[in-house]
Amino acid sequence: MLNNPKAYTDYSYITELVCSDCGAKYSASTVNTFCLDCQAPLLANYDLDSLRAHFQREDFSLQARARGMWRWHELLPVQSPFNCVTLGEGDGPLLALSNLGGELGLSNLYVKDESGNPTGSFKARGLAVAISKARELGIRKVIIPTAGNAGGAMAAYAARAGMKALIYMPQDAPRANVVESRLTGAEVVLIDGIISDAAGMVGVKAKAEGWFDLSTFKEPYRVEGKKIMGYEIAEAFGWELPDVIIYPTGGGTGLVGMWKAFAELEALGWLKSSKKPRMVVVQAEGCAPIVKAFQAGAAFSDFWINAHTVASGLRVPKSFADALILKVLRESGGQAVTASDAEILAAQFEIGHKEGLFPAPEGAATLVAARKLVDQKWIQPDERVVLFNTGSGLKYLEDRL
Ligand SMILES: *Cc1c(COP(=O)(O)O)cnc(C)c1O
Ligand SMILES: [Zn+2]
Repeated sequence: MLNNPKAYTDYSYITELVCSDCGAKYSASTVNTFCLDCQAPLLANYDLDSLRAHFQREDFSLQARARGMWRWHELLPVQSPFNCVTLGEGDGPLLALSNLGGELGLSNLYVKDESGNPTGSFKARGLAVAISKARELGIRKVIIPTAGNAGGAMAAYAARAGMKALIYMPQDAPRANVVESRLTGAEVVLIDGIISDAAGMVGVKAKAEGWFDLSTFKEPYRVEGKKIMGYEIAEAFGWELPDVIIYPTGGGTGLVGMWKAFAELEALGWLKSSKKPRMVVVQAEGCAPIVKAFQAGAAFSDFWINAHTVASGLRVPKSFADALILKVLRESGGQAVTASDAEILAAQFEIGHKEGLFPAPEGAATLVAARKLVDQKWIQPDERVVLFNTGSGLKYLEDRL
């Protein structure tokens, strides 16, 4: 790297933003949200050719760089290290689940455990990047509608960045989400409704008072933070991607992000094989818009009426990126399955008893999905299967034990 001057000047290789629908280009150096023509998310492009020419994948390794999400900074959108707002997110463990694997008849079952992230969920990854980029662009006031964890994460990073934070959250969100957000200085408005109702209120407030809206996929950078999970998985598997990834899906940031990462990895020439994982969405029986749309062969999802589930992060009746999520499922040859609340709570106990983890209910749902897909013989015994534990069960103590 010493003979590579570009590494010192270009902290990020981002080139532009592109509409995921019409392909229109937007600047990555000015404030942008989503494509107003298409009502579709913007995704970041990078100069992967020049990155490929200047770097090898080992240059990003834990031997070469400090631990955490930011060791991949050339592949993140923040253009100066001075704008990075970090609490140490990323690089959570990929754990083998041999006890549960034995039970399911899977010889290669793993969990990517995101529960150790700042604020106790993987929302930290996305909000760390979004807040950092917002700071770079001169934004001082941020607002978010949330099922809970995104609000807590936004509040923490906003505090560190010295920004004002305003959060709209269901009044029945986990208590931990309310407390953590207020403790880190955000104003929390508890609403009579769910995230979709909160989103409407946030839209009005943002417009009236000039708050920047960090809603899932209504700004382009949260997905970039979540994308790094795909890089970490590729690296952990020796640059040969696993066969199946099971993701508890609300807004779908991680699913879309990892799929983007796999495409970037391929363009960078870092993968040993071009074989991609089959991506699986798991949603709660009481809120399964993507599962319904996937089974119907639809390109978009319908708004799910009367959404309810103990897995609060999955109580998202309509994702702004539904078309992208469905596209990933189809391109990857994936699946979409539901888990009932009873199944989720039982799986949470099972993961605890057999493996010593205390997963968030959303994370526990991935075990329910794995079992169903093994029973259907959609997953083969020797396939490498990765579950996602997206947060800590400690944030959801209300109705436990
Ligand atoms: C938000 C959240 C999810 C869903 O993530 P998306 O990327 O929005 O699909 C899953 N689990 C937990 C714990 C969450 O907070
Ligand atoms: Zn567009």
